[in-house]
Amino acid sequence: VDSVLVGDKAVQAEASALLADHFLPTDRLEAELNTVVFRTGDKVVLIDVGAGDSFGPTGGRQAAVLAAAGLKPADVTTIFITHAHGDHFGGYLGADGKPVYANAELVISEKEHAFWTQDKAPVEALQKMLDGAKKNFAAAGDRVRLIKPGSEIAPGITAVEAYGHTPGHCQVRVDSGKESLLVTGDTANHPVLFLRHPEWGFGFDGDKPAAAATRKKTLEAAAADRMRILAYHFPYPGIGRVRKLASGGFEFVAEPMKL
Ligand SMILES: [Zn+2]
Repeated sequence: VDSVLVGDKAVQAEASALLADHFLPTDRLEAELNTVVFRTGDKVVLIDVGAGDSFGPTGGRQAAVLAAAGLKPADVTTIFITHAHGDHFGGYLGADGKPVYANAELVISEKEHAFWTQDKAPVEALQKMLDGAKKNFAAAGDRVRLIKPGSEIAPGITAVEAYGHTPGHCQVRVDSGKESLLVTGDTANHPVLFLRHPEWGFGFDGDKPAAAATRKKTLEAAAADRMRILAYHFPYPGIGRVRKLASGGFEFVAEPMKL
């Protein structure tokens, strides 16, 4: 836990107590990979493509899961990448080195794309991920579409600025009739720790103060609007709402799954 939660002894002790209180292991943080697909008009839109084979044997099953839902890779028209970390973008290429979703345009924020296509990573620890992202963009060729936050990814699906986790990290807002959903990407990466303490530092947040500010703003708004959210790393399927606690911080209330 202390490698992904940045904080002094008091923070670590409170985190352990919170995890134990929620019947969670205290020696590690578990993270799932909740990608999502939307149909809108004639578009089939994926938000993130999972980890591919870079996150162990259970991290790269997106295409198989889509097949079970009756969708072939060729049916996907649009992919939006919230940010270019390997657990969100690593599944872009198949074992043959070609895009898994051959017909899909690859949409990403201009700022995120600029960061991950630099000659050299600003810190050595990011070099491997930068190389991987560049390989993906090169394979996508002219299918890459760069957008600014606030732009439409597809009808009813809009990118929302949520910088901090990475320089161009975006959330995705989906509106359909009276319903809406905010796909939060990596705004908050643990359903207990970073909701109870949005100000705590997450090890993989590139700019920790900016990420914490985005997290706080998102949670405040989601709680005030009783907005449905889908969080990438929360327990499957990561859908629920956020409640503000009188004692400080927030609580994630998972929505019952309808199968
Ligand atoms: Zn992630």
